[in-house]
Amino acid sequence: MEYMKKPFVTKAQLEALDKDFPTPYYLYDEKAIRQNARRLNEAFSWNEGFKEYFAVKATPNPAIMRILHEEGCGMDCSSLTELMLCQRIGIGGRDIMFSSNDTPAEDFRLADRMEAIINLDDITHIDFLEKTIGRIPETVSCRFNPGGYFEISNTIMDSPGDAKYGMTKPQMFQAYRILAAKGAREFGIHAFLASNTSTDDYYPTLAMQLFRLAVELHEETGAHIGFINLSGGIGIPYRPDGRTADIMVIGEAVRRVYEQILVPAGMGDVKIFTELGRFMLGPYGCLVTKAIHQKHIHKEYIGLDACACNLMRPAMYGAYHHITVAGKEDAPCDHLYDITGGLCENNDKFAVDRWLPYIAPGDFVIIHDTGAHGHSMGYNYNGKLRSAELLLGEDGQVTMIRRAETPEDYFVTLEF
Ligand SMILES: *Cc1c(COP(=O)(O)O)cnc(C)c1O
Repeated sequence: MEYMKKPFVTKAQLEALDKDFPTPYYLYDEKAIRQNARRLNEAFSWNEGFKEYFAVKATPNPAIMRILHEEGCGMDCSSLTELMLCQRIGIGGRDIMFSSNDTPAEDFRLADRMEAIINLDDITHIDFLEKTIGRIPETVSCRFNPGGYFEISNTIMDSPGDAKYGMTKPQMFQAYRILAAKGAREFGIHAFLASNTSTDDYYPTLAMQLFRLAVELHEETGAHIGFINLSGGIGIPYRPDGRTADIMVIGEAVRRVYEQILVPAGMGDVKIFTELGRFMLGPYGCLVTKAIHQKHIHKEYIGLDACACNLMRPAMYGAYHHITVAGKEDAPCDHLYDITGGLCENNDKFAVDRWLPYIAPGDFVIIHDTGAHGHSMGYNYNGKLRSAELLLGEDGQVTMIRRAETPEDYFVTLEF
């Protein structure tokens, strides 16, 4: 076993928690979250105004958001309720990036009241925003979509040409001119062109494109570019043999591109922003479940007390999530299982044909790397209820940071 993924909790810890916290639940590791955030800030410490705006949609929990805010992060919101969540915990102003699309007027109104930085997804949103809030903010950002394919060394990573987001290059120039005429004084550029990347070249390649665009925009429109937002997209290794992005190497490579393109253009004061979600939380959360059934038909099945409503990624994208059985970390993986939830959908499988140790009902089954886009993508199909979220504190104590839903929560929006 050359490649191993070890859970950050032991069977003994899970057994001790079992009295107070029934499975399934999400568990997050505060210490690791803080360490990772500090590494990111260190990697970009060469840039004076650097700021990570945590993509709230990845893990919208106040306890997690507070931890990241304490580490110097702002928040990237995409909707009214995500803005309200920030408002509730006292985060506002330039600590918020509002990167939405197909945006309702109400969302723009709140973003403006909170003095968030607004990132416009479309050129028509200029008029829409002006009509909605009565003016154009002094600081405003525009989202760029170059179209075509996003390639690194002739390898296609993603196809922005098929993505609904952002403005074309000619629209970016036009948008900057219109915004400047309407009173904008400080401009930002944003682009999100590939997701869950494992290479260290994604940010530097993106930065090269955006920095060149920034120079052109500045030279042609006279706009003062205050910041460039590289947004999300740095990935995590979901598989045990997957590659971990080296954030120090990434930060240094972005610095070189910055020195090469922005500094000679007299733009050495541009701030670099990021909007990472998965990279900030993914590896530092897991879904803790229990096996409740073994089923022997045409295949061998293990039924868990969690289902796709608790973690949608495997059902939705066929995403791989590593699984370990607590206390059997070193046992031979000599059983071939499908690991299922109880939805009336045959894609409700956390793993298909996975070699694992023998699993008995009552075993704790840990689903790894679910700290981001895990609980937050939950839903209530089949009347399933969303689980609790727990935080393993730096002091080793576990606290509940979201209770599990109850049937009453499920009924509360209904008229009887
Ligand atoms: C989802 C999203 C992010 C975060 O993406 P990750 O893959 O979690 O890093 C950042 N910015 C925007 C606009 C997003 O939609």
